[in-house]
Amino acid sequence: MLIEKDFENIISKLETEIKKILPKGNVADYIPELSKINPDKFGVSISTIDGLHFGTGDFDENFSLQSIAKVFSLTMVYGALGEKIWNRVGVEPSGNPFNSLVQLEYEKGVPRNPFINAGALVICDYLFDIFENPEIELLNFVRKISGNSNINFNLKVAESESANGYRNKALINLMKSFGNINNDIDKILDLYFKMCSIEMSCKDLSHTFLLYSNHGELIQTGEKLLTVSQTKRLNSVMQTCGFYDESGEFTFKVGLPGKSGVGGGIAAIHPGKYSVAVWSPLLNEKGNSYLGMKILEFITTKFEKSIF
Ligand code: GLN
Repeated sequence: MLIEKDFENIISKLETEIKKILPKGNVADYIPELSKINPDKFGVSISTIDGLHFGTGDFDENFSLQSIAKVFSLTMVYGALGEKIWNRVGVEPSGNPFNSLVQLEYEKGVPRNPFINAGALVICDYLFDIFENPEIELLNFVRKISGNSNINFNLKVAESESANGYRNKALINLMKSFGNINNDIDKILDLYFKMCSIEMSCKDLSHTFLLYSNHGELIQTGEKLLTVSQTKRLNSVMQTCGFYDESGEFTFKVGLPGKSGVGGGIAAIHPGKYSVAVWSPLLNEKGNSYLGMKILEFITTKFEKSIF
C-alpha cells in the first residue's frame, strides 16, 4: 500500500530531478494548432486507488490528449461488444510508427492493434455500429469516467488536424478497400479527429486512469465498465502497444502499462495501486514525450513502483 509520505517524497525529489534534465525534441507540428503550445509546459499528477492525489507543475492545465483518448473509445467498444472486436483489429505490437501504411497493405487491412491510428479508426467505426450519435456518447462517456462535466473537444485542434490529415485519410481508405470499414469514412474521420482533440489536465487524466488500476470499476460510483478479464487485456495492450515502436523501451525503462499522445501527455497505471499522468509537449523521434518518459522512469525506478 502506498502512503502519503511516499508520494510527498516522490514529488519533492521529482522537482529537483526535472531541473537536471534538459528537455529535447519537437512539438507535434504536423497538427499546426498543436505547434502553438509552449514547449516548457510540464505537469505531473499521481492518483491512488485509496483516494490520495499529488501534483506538481502545470498539472491542473488542460492539454490535448491525442492518442491517449484512444483508450477511452476502446473501453466503450470493448465493454459494449466484447471479444468479437478482436476479429477486426489485432493485439500485437506493430513495430512501426503510429501512422504507418506499409503493414496494413501486407496484412489485408487488419490493423495490428487498437492504438496505432488504423486500429483506432476501426474502433471509431465500431462506435457508429453501436450508437446513433457516437460523438455525444463519447463525450458523455469521457465526462463520466473523469467525473468532470467540463471535458470537451477542442474544435480548432480537430479542424487543424483534419485539414492536414492525409495519412489518416489514406489509412481509412486502404482499410475500406479491404472491407474492414463499415460506416461513412468522412464521419469516422470527423469523430476520430474530435476524439484526439479532447482536452484534460494531468489531474483529470490520472484520476480517469484509476479505472484501469481498479480492474474496470469506476471508483466514483462502483459501476463496472469492463470485466476484470477485459481490463487485464486492455492493460496488456497498453503495455505492449501503448508507445508504438517504443513500447519495448517504455516497458524496459518504466515498467507500467500506459498510453502516450502527440500532445505530449502520457498516462500509466499500476493495477490495484495508482495511476500517473505527465505532460511535456516536446516529443522524441517516436512521437512520445521526451521528458514524460524520463519522469516516469524516475518514479518507477527510484521508488520501486513498477509492475515488474
Ligand atoms: N491525432 C493524432 C494522429 O492521428 C494522434 C497520434 C498520436 O497521438 N500518436 O496522428
